[in-house]
Amino acid sequence: MSRPKRPMIKFTCKVCGEIFYSNRDRAKYCSISCANKGRKKSTDLKKEEKIKEAVSRENNMKSIKEIAVHAKNAGISYGEYVAMTEVV
Ligand SMILES: [Zn+2]
Repeated sequence: MSRPKRPMIKFTCKVCGEIFYSNRDRAKYCSISCANKGRKKSTDLKKEEKIKEAVSRENNMKSIKEIAVHAKNAGISYGEYVAMTEVV
């Protein structure tokens, strides 16, 4: 007895937008080259997110320096300045 054939399902390639058919449940890409591109894209996105994180961290550092300068100009310590600005 031969195994029943899985039905072909219509998919749209996530990379090139080409319509293709596959008998897999969850096909995302029309070809191996598109699959490679798609995987690369997702790792690039992760990298981008890490860079964004690093930048925002750097911005925080900058603002701490700025606060320190403001505090110095106001003639108080950084701790006092932060305590002042934190009180609402
Ligand atoms: Zn494709």
